[in-house]
Amino acid sequence: ALELKNVKKVFGNTLVLNDISLSVPWGKVISIIGPSGSGKSTLLRSINGLESIDTGDIEMGGLPFMFKNNNKIKKSNKKLQVLKIGMVFQSYNLFPHKTVLENVMLAPLYHKKNKDQELIRIHALAMLEKVGMLIHANKYPHQLSGGQQQRVAIARALAIQPSIMLFDEPTSALDPELVQEVLKVIKELSNEGMTMIIVTHEMKFAFEVSDRIVFMESGQIIYNEDPQQMKKTQDERLLKFIGNVA
Ligand code: ATP
Ligand code: MG
Repeated sequence: ALELKNVKKVFGNTLVLNDISLSVPWGKVISIIGPSGSGKSTLLRSINGLESIDTGDIEMGGLPFMFKNNNKIKKSNKKLQVLKIGMVFQSYNLFPHKTVLENVMLAPLYHKKNKDQELIRIHALAMLEKVGMLIHANKYPHQLSGGQQQRVAIARALAIQPSIMLFDEPTSALDPELVQEVLKVIKELSNEGMTMIIVTHEMKFAFEVSDRIVFMESGQIIYNEDPQQMKKTQDERLLKFIGNVA
């Protein structure tokens, strides 16, 4: 499992993560919902080390994984070296002057210091096939729709062979008609047993795909429930949020 234990994070005078404890067992999907500014992105960014945390622990497979007070915990342990994290953002940020295939190969090439090029290429092509983008492998990002670019971004995250995928509002920047093709890919990943944390406003999708739904407010986890249980809530704030999925 990926485990957060009593994680706190301060920005200025604001406690943006206020004693967050969360367990994400391997193979499970957790969706995080909650109002703007509640700390959802900060939580994901802390997990993959884009933000340091002030107190608490983040562990993967029972071993301390992440940064605390800007001190990177050395990944000296062999076991930790194989536990990688893939992340997909709202804005896909593909390199504009590189082809789809080159975008997907970039991170693995960097990690492997240019060894095994052919193997990396074959794996990258397989990841593009998984997201339905193989036929566009040699195109440039500007030749693709937003939904297609986001699917390439998912392939790029998968290319490092992550143990867990983090999604931060992966469909928020897309035109409505392009949302489903991206959600479909994420759903297929969940069917394959990929461990995922998904921050999303797509409630119907979240309730369909998730093993647990976490509702955050003001840096705290207010609810962490299975979807069926959450649908029965009487809490007005939560009801306002999940709308008519129930
Ligand atoms: P949204 O739904 O709008 O994406 P969120 O739940 O992802 O919101 P965060 O982006 O995690 O919320 O922000 C949580 C709080 O931390 C907010 O009050 C925000 O203003 C603050 N914050 C985020 N990043 C920084 C930063 N780099 N410096 C200072 N404050 C920050
Ligand atoms: Mg956010």
